[in-house]
Amino acid sequence: MKIMKKQIDLRSDTVTKPSTAMKKAMMAAKVGDDVYGEDPTINELEALAANMLGTQDSIFCASGTQTNLLALMTHCERGDEYIVGQHAHTYKYEGGGAAVLASIQPQPLDFEEDGTLNLEKVSQFIKPDDIHFANTKLLCLENTQAGKVLPLDYLEKAKKLADNNRLSFHLDGARVFNAAVKLKVNVKEITKYFDTISCCLSKGLGAPVGSVLCGSKKQIKKARRWRKVLGGGMRQAGFLAGAGIYALLNNIERMEQDHINALALAKGLSEIKDIHINMKIVQTNMVFADINADMFNLCNFLKQKGVVIGTSSHLRLVTHLDISKDDIDYTIQTFKDFFTSND
Ligand SMILES: *Cc1c(COP(=O)(O)O)cnc(C)c1O
Repeated sequence: MKIMKKQIDLRSDTVTKPSTAMKKAMMAAKVGDDVYGEDPTINELEALAANMLGTQDSIFCASGTQTNLLALMTHCERGDEYIVGQHAHTYKYEGGGAAVLASIQPQPLDFEEDGTLNLEKVSQFIKPDDIHFANTKLLCLENTQAGKVLPLDYLEKAKKLADNNRLSFHLDGARVFNAAVKLKVNVKEITKYFDTISCCLSKGLGAPVGSVLCGSKKQIKKARRWRKVLGGGMRQAGFLAGAGIYALLNNIERMEQDHINALALAKGLSEIKDIHINMKIVQTNMVFADINADMFNLCNFLKQKGVVIGTSSHLRLVTHLDISKDDIDYTIQTFKDFFTSND
């Protein structure tokens, strides 16, 4: 029988499988009906996440799409507007949920090369109080943004701008721990500027499901109501929260290895003349590469050798806890084999 090597899946850090230790934590979770507020493991996770991110409270949700939407719904009402990046998840990758489900209008602006929003441009797009305009209520940032870490002094300036204009301030921190690990700071040094923070447990942290929204007691109370309305009230979901607790307690510091692996991958692939990588933006666990090759052939070749990548020629490769240093070496060699076999 042919034994298939394990797959090296570089499409996303969402593909991780729970480790044996994580599964043990899940199976040991005490559960109850969370809609009644009676799931002890969910309550523990929500307290832990709030404590770690430095907010009064938090709420456990099915996905980051849901936590972001809930944040928008706690800050904005029908006819209000949020300022957001053109390629931000909260604008581009969430099915237009803010508009579809909450009657909130986005004001998208191009991200700068470093993943920030130009604050002068943001100022220009804050609308005056005039019946012609939607009410600008909220500024949203993303960190990391396509693997890039926003500078702390930028966050401080953005917070000032939000305060001066009475805007709420939300962070899509799906990968905020990657940013904190990269900067070697406590995550609170990032989150302290924001009113609400959404953080994914299911990405680099390695949990199978879930995100948390962190904020004040008042905001989280409001979010809890909207989560129920959206059908997101789960019952004995403590088994999932058990994975989240395990992730927050065990899988943060190790992200540094993902960053080291991403850098090694980027360096190795840069040696191939048909691959172009801007090394400046390889900051955390993501590598973006422009590839001059037939992507269909490349993907198939790699797949046969056990390496899974996306099919776009503007390729995104993501490292995570199921990718080892050996996997990186093997991946680089496999890419090289493809390009030499095609010379
Ligand atoms: C993955 C991600 C989310 C949330 O995605 P879900 O798949 O809904 O959990 C939000 N923002 C960013 C930047 C993401 O990468």
